[in-house]
Amino acid sequence: GVEMARVSKRFGDVLVIDDVSLEVQLGEFIVFLGPSGCGKSTLLRMIAGLETVDDGTIYIGEQRVDTMPPGERDVAMVFQHYALYPHMTIRENLAFGLTNRRVPADEIAKRIEAAASSLEIEEFLERRPGQLSGGQRQRAAIARAIVKQPSLFLFDEPLSNLDAALRARTRIELAQLHQQLGTTMVFVTHDQVEAMTLADRIVVLNNHRIEQIGTPMEIYRRPATKFVAGFVGTPK
Ligand code: ATP
Ligand code: MG
Repeated sequence: GVEMARVSKRFGDVLVIDDVSLEVQLGEFIVFLGPSGCGKSTLLRMIAGLETVDDGTIYIGEQRVDTMPPGERDVAMVFQHYALYPHMTIRENLAFGLTNRRVPADEIAKRIEAAASSLEIEEFLERRPGQLSGGQRQRAAIARAIVKQPSLFLFDEPLSNLDAALRARTRIELAQLHQQLGTTMVFVTHDQVEAMTLADRIVVLNNHRIEQIGTPMEIYRRPATKFVAGFVGTPK
């Protein structure tokens, strides 16, 4: 799993993460839910190593990672805007991180085939990202995370650029993927429905701090604060 202890982060004078502690169990699907600007992406990026940590510690499994270079962390991240390399084909995009990690070529081919098949992007493997729709690109980005076989997946609003039908479908596929792989997943969203349907537990964030951590049912039935009650849509 993941353990964050008393993590804080400033951008200049502004405290954007204020003393956050939480434990994610191995294999758990955790959702960070909160309004725009509350610090969700910053938290995720600190786990990935894309932002430094000012205070506190982060562990992935037994390994302390907040002092470790991002390339050495055993994580794969999927972004809202795909972040595929535009000049490479989808196959090359998927293979890119693996070649660096010295995975043998036949193993790379096998992993790409399996991921492409489960996300139904086999027919797009020789195309470049610019030749795909938004939905196809996002599936390619998810496939690129899968082929890494990380011990932790990090998703930053991966569905928010998709239309409603595709969003619902991809959401179901992510749930199936989690069931099939059993890998720990941390998923950031400001969408209550996504949080309620995907999460084992939800971390509700507001104003750069944690408001409440609980199962979707706990958060819905027993919101700990007025903010949580308002944000998940039940009157208190
Ligand atoms: P959204 O839902 O809009 O993506 P978020 O919860 O992911 O929001 P963050 O991106 O984590 O929010 O940003 C948290 C706060 O930190 C915001 O107030 C933002 O303006 C600020 N911030 C983020 N990145 C930087 C940066 N590189 N420099 C200065 N301030 C930043
Ligand atoms: Mg964000």
